[in-house]
Amino acid sequence: MAKPEDRRHGRCLCGAVTFSALLPEDQFQLCHCKQCQRWTGGGPLTAIRVKDVEVVGQDAIRTFHASAHGERAFCGTCGTTLFWRLQGRSMAFLSVGLLDDQSGLTVGEEIFVDHRPDWLPAWSDAKQHSEAEMQAQLQAFLEANPK
Ligand SMILES: [Zn+2]
Ligand SMILES: [Zn+2]
Repeated sequence: MAKPEDRRHGRCLCGAVTFSALLPEDQFQLCHCKQCQRWTGGGPLTAIRVKDVEVVGQDAIRTFHASAHGERAFCGTCGTTLFWRLQGRSMAFLSVGLLDDQSGLTVGEEIFVDHRPDWLPAWSDAKQHSEAEMQAQLQAFLEANPK
């Protein structure tokens, strides 16, 4: 596990958005859903859970709702994929590639694996979750964390 004080820094490609965030875990997700494939231009989305995010350049951030619950944030200048979060809730995941320092981080799970493209091999040590499993997890989270 990452230490509670594991605060890391990152930025978008153009530097209009810089941030620091606490990493409560040192494992991150690969999301193979079709939305993430389109959003990243190939995918998967590399998404690490973050807490206590401090952002400089908030004005540069644009958001897009591709689904009923999710919000995708990107830099309005350079288009960098910044983060995915549940609309109006605390759950948030940052793109791992934004971090200046990715040391010690590993792939913990792959999600929406039924949408993984044929050209991309599975991460053999990572937990594997289907779309149906993720939809069930989302419903459970929404019920446990009402707005
Ligand atoms: Zn930018
Ligand atoms: Zn996805």
